[in-house]
Amino acid sequence: MFCEYYRNIYKLYQRSYVALNTAVKIGDREVLFFVKRSRQRRASVSFSVEKDLSIQVSAPYRTSVDSIAKILKNRASWIARRIGEIQKNESTKGTALFLGEAYEVKITRNSEEKNYCRLEDKAIKINIQDEWLSQQGVKEEAALELMCWYKKEIKSIFIEKLGKWSEKIKISYDSFRINNAMRQWGSCDYKNVISLNWRLVMAPKEIIDYVIIHELCHIKHKNHSEEFWKMVEKYYPGYKEAKKHLRENITHYEWHPKEFLL
Ligand SMILES: [Zn+2]
Repeated sequence: MFCEYYRNIYKLYQRSYVALNTAVKIGDREVLFFVKRSRQRRASVSFSVEKDLSIQVSAPYRTSVDSIAKILKNRASWIARRIGEIQKNESTKGTALFLGEAYEVKITRNSEEKNYCRLEDKAIKINIQDEWLSQQGVKEEAALELMCWYKKEIKSIFIEKLGKWSEKIKISYDSFRINNAMRQWGSCDYKNVISLNWRLVMAPKEIIDYVIIHELCHIKHKNHSEEFWKMVEKYYPGYKEAKKHLRENITHYEWHPKEFLL
């Protein structure tokens, strides 16, 4: 939090706000304000509340920081209202894939609510609580929320599908784990432990079925022999299209929080 505070200052400083930044207490909140000095003789001090919840002030050179703080304090209720409006305002940040569908991602910054990510009204809604985050920080936080949600969702899908297919194929696996590999959808080791990539959460459900069937068949055949593919085909006749789908969509599913929403 402390670190974020200084990152914010630095970022805004770089944006050519000519120095002087400090905070003013608005309700329970310390709000950063940045003063841009005007060379022209301005009649008065003006300010606005920015999206990152800081205040940008334009003031003539002669106005002291103390008197600016005093002006802001006098307008505390208006500032608090603006902050509330900005926090509640949803911002749309591109789309994210979930089970083969692209959903709009809507991010809110509501400090009253804990961080969350959920599918609601045909959109992926993410809330970020921390009030000190910079815009860049919000994106990073949102990406992490989304990744946690992805992993939670895919885990239950894997459990359900592994149960269903191992019963149908009449084959049992030792255990399964979720892996983080970039280009491997699944694997099955000599102990019959199945690893599945959480990024499959972005693929359509039938593609997830294919990967699960593929790995379950490896319990019987530890290779990609003709017998192996015959077994796969028995339970998943369209396996060639599924393979092609994964090959063609690999760049869409190579999702990494760092690249998200940039
Ligand atoms: Zn294989």
